[in-house]
Amino acid sequence: MFRREDFISDNDWERFRSASAKAATPNIFVNLRSIRHHFIALKDSFPYAHIYYAVKANPGMPVLKLLDSLGSCFDIASRYELDKVLSLGVSPDRLSYGNTIKKAEDIKYFYDKGVRLFATDSRDDLKNIEAIAPGSRVFVRILIDNTSSADWPLSRKFGCHPDMAYDLLVHARDNGLTPYGISFHVGSQQRDIGVWNDAIAKTKYLFESLEDEEGIKLSMINMGGGFPANYIQPTNELSVYASEITRYLTDDFGEDRPMVILEPGRSLVGDSGVLTSEVVLISRKNNTALQRWVYLDAGKFNGLVETMDESIKYPVVTDKDGGKEGEVIIAGPTCDSADIMYENEKYRLPFDLKQGDKVYWLTTGAYTSTYASVAFNGFPPIKTYYITEDGIEDENGNKVSFDN
Ligand SMILES: *Cc1c(COP(=O)(O)O)cnc(C)c1O
Repeated sequence: MFRREDFISDNDWERFRSASAKAATPNIFVNLRSIRHHFIALKDSFPYAHIYYAVKANPGMPVLKLLDSLGSCFDIASRYELDKVLSLGVSPDRLSYGNTIKKAEDIKYFYDKGVRLFATDSRDDLKNIEAIAPGSRVFVRILIDNTSSADWPLSRKFGCHPDMAYDLLVHARDNGLTPYGISFHVGSQQRDIGVWNDAIAKTKYLFESLEDEEGIKLSMINMGGGFPANYIQPTNELSVYASEITRYLTDDFGEDRPMVILEPGRSLVGDSGVLTSEVVLISRKNNTALQRWVYLDAGKFNGLVETMDESIKYPVVTDKDGGKEGEVIIAGPTCDSADIMYENEKYRLPFDLKQGDKVYWLTTGAYTSTYASVAFNGFPPIKTYYITEDGIEDENGNKVSFDN
């Protein structure tokens, strides 16, 4: 149904095959070379931007180490992510606390560790920051409603109306904080580049009105994530995103472009992963049913959460591709009927696929490894391995060997 070579090069596929041959399924192998490539491409496309990797997309130590070595900053959502990144020796001035939903004690934890850059989108959160993190820089996240063209919208839960953002920034200035900028997230895997245009226009309006009416000069625009990974639905190339978005910025801000922050997650790490599952069972629901149910040892609760509502459509390949194939429903191993990955989207798999065969999920480097239940039905979390330049490592960066 899908051509593996449209998603992963022969070279990377061979490396993956030899690294993963002896590993028990289900598992994910992440190719660090791919992440390096995407990071460099993003830097080249947005040479003026500061990159804050959204740690939640793939928090494996080998990933954090690589991105640190490439000069990335980090967008952090919890004290646990903070501890991980600080353990690498990253200086706190390269970190932002980007989660607008936080306890007062978490703000204190970040402040005590030296973080001075905070996102907010509400009065009560801002008040906590004022009280606990005096002098810090704050940026306000605005609502972007035009997110239906994103495959994984992140919108309604976060952000506030621009009028409220205005008030929050004035309040911040009047209460000992530095009003620093505006952020937005256009929705993850955003396929409509035009959405950035609306968001940048709203930001520009806030920059202007705050300066004209309040004498507040903001310095930073945080454009979040939303850049695509390579799933089955086509997207524009990153270079097209970059040239369009850069044009919107120039149209609105001219020579006076503020500091720009990007917070990529999916687009940096998505393409790097291959999730290997094994066929547990293939069945039909009656003697003459044309559709087969294919049950795998990976599902919604151990790696494939983003198949929720069939939102993210991963390319799926097998070792038997190329022959005759037919329609399937693909489901996971647990006793929950929500554990069905694709039913409406018509995936096709080979007729000679059998129990014990492997099914490979491509582009599974983002929002898979830790985005899972702990032990639903007793199934352990999926194991993730990282293919580095000198061997295979686990999520903590320890060397792994599958021999013996
Ligand atoms: C998740 C998240 C991101 C990353 O988004 P992608 O679409 O994966 O690039 C960036 N910023 C914030 C605040 C996030 O919550």
